[in-house]
Amino acid sequence: MPALTRLAEDEAIFRDSVYEFADREIRPLAREMDEHAKFSPELIKKLFELGVMSVEVPESYGGAGGTFFHSVLAVESLSRVDPSIGVLVDVQNTLVINAVMRWGTDEIKRKYLPKFATSLIGAYCLSEAGSGSDAFAMATRATEVNDAVKGDGFAINGRKLWITNGNEADMFIVFANVNPDAGYRGITAFIVDRGTPGFTVGKKEDKLGIRASSTCELIFEDCVVPKSQILGEVGKGYKVAIETLNEGRIGIGAQMLGLAQGALDHTIGYIKERKQFGKPIADFQGVQFQIARMAMDVETTRLLVYNSARLRDAGQPFLTEAAMCKIHSSEVAERVASMAINLYGGNGFVKEYPVEKLYRDAKIGQIYEGTSNMQLMTIAKGILS
Ligand SMILES: Cc1cc2nc3c(=O)[nH]c(=O)nc-3n(C[C@H](O)[C@H](O)[C@H](O)COP(=O)(O)OP(=O)(O)OC[C@H]3O[C@@H](n4cnc5c(N)ncnc54)[C@H](O)[C@@H]3O)c2cc1C
Repeated sequence: MPALTRLAEDEAIFRDSVYEFADREIRPLAREMDEHAKFSPELIKKLFELGVMSVEVPESYGGAGGTFFHSVLAVESLSRVDPSIGVLVDVQNTLVINAVMRWGTDEIKRKYLPKFATSLIGAYCLSEAGSGSDAFAMATRATEVNDAVKGDGFAINGRKLWITNGNEADMFIVFANVNPDAGYRGITAFIVDRGTPGFTVGKKEDKLGIRASSTCELIFEDCVVPKSQILGEVGKGYKVAIETLNEGRIGIGAQMLGLAQGALDHTIGYIKERKQFGKPIADFQGVQFQIARMAMDVETTRLLVYNSARLRDAGQPFLTEAAMCKIHSSEVAERVASMAINLYGGNGFVKEYPVEKLYRDAKIGQIYEGTSNMQLMTIAKGILS
């Protein structure tokens, strides 16, 4: 692997061990999981055993006690083999666990953090049919209740759309507005457990890429959640959403980085084997220039992703860098996967070879956790203010 960017020794060991796991355990299953649009449950168990489902959970709660940077390395290494597994692990670490660690009460931390280390998968539920880029225009409402029939807490009513891990998750961070007159200052984050009366997981989407990752609708009908399940404060859910998504973007950058590296790995192997005009196509300068551009794209992406993650861990401003990393990595992933198909020729276009899947998987990077236009707005604001 052309890893030009320096890592500390423990980081390099961690990244390589996750990649070795992905190569051994995920690669043989990736195509079948894509076809059936479903994760292997045994594989998910192994991800927990490996520690990548609780990278930043402190050791005192049974987690791996790593840094945000370690989460990013895990997402990169897994996505190098299968970006669907990459997003499962990304949402779990950079959105869900991150939010619980930062905003959870001691009670919430004691309830959820140990379980993230063993079997609990989380989901992050912000988007709705009518509110995507304009996420705070959500229509889901939470109304305070305190009676013998409905219970004591908030009753959530509404529907969420596009929720990653919807099928596998047992805990859901759900954003709802408790006071629409206050606009975004009414938004509140609740933790809803699967099985809570009034909460059902609806339709699962049939997607172009990252097909093994579930993307579901969620339905809330008078779903009463106790006040102890509020994450952060009432009316401060917008802060929970913004701050976690700012960091989550770096995770998507890592997913797209891994994807692009995976496409490059495959292509290097292929062009050395495939012969035309009596020699390997890697011997032609035209092909060499194309692979050199792919490698350059991957490396510039790695620099942006690692730098954003390091800034975040150092407590320094990283918003503009994270937005750059998300848009650049997703464009590179699409470009590199597309060139991989070109260099495979006809074989690139069929499912027997791995690169058509990576091309399909790349498209989502420009859409979720803030579309490319939203990232450009953040970058422009950052550099003009
Ligand atoms: C596979 C998948 C998984 C997802 N997972 C999750 C999840 O786990 N949790 C969750 O909450 N959400 C999730 N999402 C939702 C995702 O974050 C939204 O789809 C995304 O934010 C875009 O919202 P939208 O689809 O409503 O598009 P829209 O907001 O309708 O955007 C459509 C187009 O208009 C452009 N646009 C909109 N407003 C502006 C503007 N002001 N200026 C310029 N251009 C603009 C956009 O850039 C885009 O090109 C997921 C989506 C998908 C497809």
